Amino acid sequence: MEYSPMAGSADFNSHAIKLAYGEDSPLIKDGHVAAVQTLSGTGACRLFGDFIHQYYPDSGMLLPTPTWSNHLGIFKDANVKTTNIRYYDPKTKGLDFKGFVEDLKAAPKKSFVLFHACAHNPTGVDPTPEQWKEISAVVKEKQQYPLFDMAYQGFASGDTERDAASIRIFLEDGHQVAVSQSFAKNMGLYGQRIGCLSVVTENPQETTAVRGQIQLVARKQYSNPPIHGALLVTRVLSSPDLKQLWYKEVQGMADRIISMRHSLRSNLEAAGSKLPWNHITDQIGMFCFTGITPEQVDRLTHEHHIYLTRNGRISIAGINTGNVERLAHALHEVTK
Ligand code: PMP
Repeated sequence: MEYSPMAGSADFNSHAIKLAYGEDSPLIKDGHVAAVQTLSGTGACRLFGDFIHQYYPDSGMLLPTPTWSNHLGIFKDANVKTTNIRYYDPKTKGLDFKGFVEDLKAAPKKSFVLFHACAHNPTGVDPTPEQWKEISAVVKEKQQYPLFDMAYQGFASGDTERDAASIRIFLEDGHQVAVSQSFAKNMGLYGQRIGCLSVVTENPQETTAVRGQIQLVARKQYSNPPIHGALLVTRVLSSPDLKQLWYKEVQGMADRIISMRHSLRSNLEAAGSKLPWNHITDQIGMFCFTGITPEQVDRLTHEHHIYLTRNGRISIAGINTGNVERLAHALHEVTK
């Protein structure tokens, strides 16, 4: 029960960044990644917010619209000015790629930009690898600084490597990225509050300096992070057998989510719905933006006792073979 160092467990940080940047990442080998253990993904975003407010007080943060609602609060409380840019197109229930790129181009140079590394919350809509390449080129041209929030690594495709593709594309293009990682979902460690904030630097001296500065922010907020979650993640990621088992379990979890998406769509079609529901299977990760109106959400709640956020977002993880048919019938009823 001893204190952790201010930056948390060095073993944990080392395993966490290998998961994000790649096992053999030259950036890690050459000491170009400053990593600090955080209070899960929320804590990583907040530490980064405080860090940029302190050192880049004039730079704002661009956020996709919509985004995880807490992003707005986290950066507001850290005194970072946020600007919403286009991301999701309600008409297609897919990515507004043109709008996203236009808004990145129109934003001030040297802005910070928050990207969801995979399985965008709340929409379930991610850019393709080709689109990420184009986004990376725009970010480079505008000298913008990307923060990848990765709360769902493994949840999109079932493969933790594939789910880190966005980050890897930016690294290949030479960006100095920051990454926020959470082990809440992919290791089921919600209450342990275990995550990691990492920042790519120019050289090992800068790594020491950046880690030192972020540590100082942590020192004033909570001094030292908790130990148990870090021990659990380190135990799994440092044992080849346990790591393989974990990969298998993550894949199983993602496959179940994907099969529930197909089942919900086919049950809606079988119930007689003539509406297009392809977005249910096109979107990925834990969430689905159904596209139903707040009034239809209210009917689901009051008439069918099915509960979801008023923006129409459902958690696919809450669907199973025992309730999917009832959900599909209720959805059909309220959207007729
Ligand atoms: N980022 C996103 C996009 C999320 O959806 C979440 C969890 N809902 C988080 C960060 C942080 O979660 P946690 O602090 O539990 O790791």
